[in-house]
Amino acid sequence: MNQQNNCDVLIIGSGAAGLTLALHLAKNADVVILSKGPLNEGSTYYAQGGIAAVFDENDSIESHMSDTIIAGAGLCDESAVQYTAENAKACLEWLIEQGVDFDKDENSQGEIKYHLTREGGHSHRRILHAADATGKAIQTTLAQRVKQHSRIRVFERYNAIDLICEEKSKNNNKQCVGAYIWNRSSEKVESIYAQKTILATGGASKVYQYTSNPDVASGDGIAMAWRAGCRVANMEFNQFHPTCLFHPDAGTFLLTEALRGEGAKLRRPDGSRFMPAFDKRAELAPRDIVARAIDFEMKRLGVDCMYLDISHKPSDFIKQHFPTIYKRTKDLGIDITKQPMPIVPAAHYTCGGVMIDQHGRTDIHQLYAIGEMSYTGLHGANRLASNSLLECLVYARAAALEISESLEQNNCFKKLPRWDDSRVIDSDEEVVIQHNWHELRLFMWDFVGIVRTTKRLERALHRVELLQQEIQDYYQNFKVSNNLLELRNLVQVAELIIRCALERKESRGLHYTLDFPETLAEAKPTILVAKKNTTRSSLSNAVDLIEKAL
Ligand SMILES: Cc1cc2nc3c(=O)[nH]c(=O)nc-3n(C[C@H](O)[C@H](O)[C@H](O)COP(=O)(O)OP(=O)(O)OC[C@H]3O[C@@H](n4cnc5c(N)ncnc54)[C@H](O)[C@@H]3O)c2cc1C
Repeated sequence: MNQQNNCDVLIIGSGAAGLTLALHLAKNADVVILSKGPLNEGSTYYAQGGIAAVFDENDSIESHMSDTIIAGAGLCDESAVQYTAENAKACLEWLIEQGVDFDKDENSQGEIKYHLTREGGHSHRRILHAADATGKAIQTTLAQRVKQHSRIRVFERYNAIDLICEEKSKNNNKQCVGAYIWNRSSEKVESIYAQKTILATGGASKVYQYTSNPDVASGDGIAMAWRAGCRVANMEFNQFHPTCLFHPDAGTFLLTEALRGEGAKLRRPDGSRFMPAFDKRAELAPRDIVARAIDFEMKRLGVDCMYLDISHKPSDFIKQHFPTIYKRTKDLGIDITKQPMPIVPAAHYTCGGVMIDQHGRTDIHQLYAIGEMSYTGLHGANRLASNSLLECLVYARAAALEISESLEQNNCFKKLPRWDDSRVIDSDEEVVIQHNWHELRLFMWDFVGIVRTTKRLERALHRVELLQQEIQDYYQNFKVSNNLLELRNLVQVAELIIRCALERKESRGLHYTLDFPETLAEAKPTILVAKKNTTRSSLSNAVDLIEKAL
């Protein structure tokens, strides 16, 4: 018999989106937050730059909106952009109330103001930041508040496996009533009933071989929502960061654009420069152009990496301006004052995701989605820097308002169908999972990466379909593990990315295909509609739920 847990609100994911929502709701509800690994492990913790909001008196909401829409290459939903820009300041003020200590500065009149930086694509200084570790400041501050809250329970090291939904007989709609969750410590599957379930599981960049994201970014929420029947949109728009350190022991280490801003040059393995041949701004061209040029040269030469070289600058300058990078590379045996750094572009941000409305509601009753895994329409075909943490905060707050109003106070918990693993056994072929992991991420990198063609996409789709069959087979016969659960989700997300990419017969924003290099006059989002699901949990969903007052 698997253990059943109960709560009013289940939040799956403990990044900026999930923690913000929990703190907003816990005044009126018993909240459970799930995190797959340690509470702080997610993209939020690693965000460096900051969060965009209009704080400067010379700046305006209209200007923030206009910059966002230009970056989005004509595909942003203007109502989402307006809603986000208008609510940004209030959300930042809330963060400050929670204790996040953004950098301040004294102006010429002796007034203390928030120090605002300016990033690519922003026409004003509007980025609040906490040195170069903004995400860490937000994550650790919110996590601290959550841990102290008496109405929030944190389930660390729990993987959500699948949503549990019941059919609502009246209008044939589905309603979410909770999820199956895998306790990584006991290695047992449990269930959790919730009146409201919120997916806040972050992006899916781990579907690519090289990524700036932490390990948890395996698109679990997108895959779960899709399997349950939600629509997803714009999955073809993956943002790649041009320069991630390429070293077997580096993990995911970004090399900031400021290096190129200070004169670092991109070089081929033979030492020659290539950016001037691609763009007159050379190394200072926008992120997607630089990433595309690196990818082009790597594929053309059949090499593993390119090089970023700042060694022509004085050694003291490098050490003073880039102390973290200097130290990190030195520890790996690279002295950047004397030699170039090996680099690859890396998958950085998932612009598309599960479709939601302005209150965070998905297509399924009582199921919400917020943060990087959702598609709000804000980013369009390309994300403007520092708008993503903002989107987490704005939509967490919007969902909190909606949930607080619609939460039933004397709700009865329901008995959930049990997880049936009577016919599964321990895996005896871990190598299959390992092999499929590598294969999937490699062909996604090679065939569905920065520069695409229809032939490569079709090739990738064929491979994904084969892998899906194999993984589904494996999933139905063996006990779950973290690697298996993530692989099952990644292969699902890979399929969604490829299908969206094949649907788009143009190049726009982050989606660039050699077969359709032009941008069409009309901009439309790519929307995929889920078929009836076929997951193991959906079989149990057919079991009637028995209402039980506790
Ligand atoms: C290196 C780096 C730098 C960045 N810099 C910036 C920046 O300067 N400004 C900016 O705006 N954005 C930046 N971003 C993007 C931004 O950090 C993310 O978009 C944002 O933090 C996403 O927050 P989130 O709450 O949606 O997800 P995350 O913070 O990624 O959290 C996801 C959570 O979901 C949990 N989870 C996932 N799957 C499951 C599951 N199956 N079961 C249970 N729990 C699960 C994870 O454990 C984690 O707790 C950066 C990203 C990276 C990687």
